[in-house]
Amino acid sequence: METAKRSIDTCMVCEEKTNKGIYIFQHFLCTTCEQRMVVTDTDDEEYQYFIEKLRKINRVSC
Ligand SMILES: [Zn+2]
Repeated sequence: METAKRSIDTCMVCEEKTNKGIYIFQHFLCTTCEQRMVVTDTDDEEYQYFIEKLRKINRVSC
């Protein structure tokens, strides 16, 4: 019984509703976006987009 049941949440990046993902700054990031973030180069525009999203969220929650 180690699998904790997670409720479905909306991803902060792609706004997809799923129960597979992680929480960053109490905001939900789906597995797909997490993986994309991991493989995306830091010079990539997409990475900057992620960072921008995270920064915005972090600012709001502070
Ligand atoms: Zn996502």
